[in-house]
Amino acid sequence: MKVPLFDITRQYETFKEEMLEAIDQVIRSGNVIQGPEVTKLEKSIAKYVGAKEGIGVANGSDALFIALDALGIKEGDSVITTPYSFFATVSCITRLGAIPIFADIDPETFNINLDRVEEILNKHPKKEKIKAIIPVHLFGQTVDLERLASLRTQYGIKILEDCAQSIGSCWIKTDGTVIKSASIGDAATFSFYPTKNLGGYGDGGMIVTSNPEIAEKTRIIAKHGSTKKYFHEIVGINSRLDELQAAILNVKFKRLDNYIEKRKTIAYKYAELINKHNLEEVIEYPKPKTDNTHVYHQYVIRIKKGNRDNLREHLTEKGIGTSIYYPKPLHLQPCFEYLGYKEGTLPIAEKACHETLALPIFPELEDKEIEYIVEEVKQALGF
Ligand SMILES: *Cc1c(COP(=O)(O)O)cnc(C)c1O
Repeated sequence: MKVPLFDITRQYETFKEEMLEAIDQVIRSGNVIQGPEVTKLEKSIAKYVGAKEGIGVANGSDALFIALDALGIKEGDSVITTPYSFFATVSCITRLGAIPIFADIDPETFNINLDRVEEILNKHPKKEKIKAIIPVHLFGQTVDLERLASLRTQYGIKILEDCAQSIGSCWIKTDGTVIKSASIGDAATFSFYPTKNLGGYGDGGMIVTSNPEIAEKTRIIAKHGSTKKYFHEIVGINSRLDELQAAILNVKFKRLDNYIEKRKTIAYKYAELINKHNLEEVIEYPKPKTDNTHVYHQYVIRIKKGNRDNLREHLTEKGIGTSIYYPKPLHLQPCFEYLGYKEGTLPIAEKACHETLALPIFPELEDKEIEYIVEEVKQALGF
């Protein structure tokens, strides 16, 4: 059996007519840049996550860069982030001339550990230079939003949530209120890269914020720093969400909650089978969370006994697609050697890079495929 890590084609038949009609409509209108579809998606996403404004941009990486610039981060500032994420989470910091400070992660969620963040805020020799935190809600699981909000107040720093993997994920506050990721940051960013939970047929991204000044600044930066065409207040970049991608995403957005539900069902099925085969002795896996907070962008297991690379090889031979998120932590990337992090400085993130493996997950993945995957994991680990 062949099971891809991700398959964008399976869902096409379920909305083909509506999709083609939406695309056709944009082309017929002639309004292909910054038209009504972009505006509609900006409004929908902002409302969905509980923010006031959305600003469509070309991709999730631009979204981070533009948002961080709009938050006023500049040369000489420092920004705390995670060493265990996609490259764009940190390159937005260094491209603005600021310095990333990495806080190690939590071994279970793989998210940034807020205890480590607080230690840095208290004890770092240049702590007064720290201006922001970029938390990533990795694999679809939310970092403690309540605590992030209180760190912001307590230390007077900005929060930029990287929600590329977490659209729709929630946090339940101590008083029981449910809030979504992207709702507490000074700004938050999304990616509509095809594999993301809300993915287009190409690139796309968005910034959301409830602060009108940040929203305004974001729009200016994304438009070459101009408020009036051909007159430039500052030097920005050109970053636009395509009208066609927005039309595509508007069709898919209607189905987002349904896709998230399907991802949850798949994650629970994996958990059920992992239990049934007593695999929890050899692997750690995402524990089912029935509180609806996790959106399972990726299904990442950790191999406790046995070799991750051998397991991956076995699954490849059996036609099962897997991936490693991430094989090398950000603090040890060659381009950041100048920051001076050595191997061993962030041991939990480094260990995760050697032990984790992402298994297939996407809304249309079938039960029999999940059964086959778990069976092969079991075979490979010598049961
Ligand atoms: C995908 C991703 C991005 C970047 O998104 P692009 O649209 O590919 O530029 C940023 N951060 C994280 C955590 C991501 O997973």
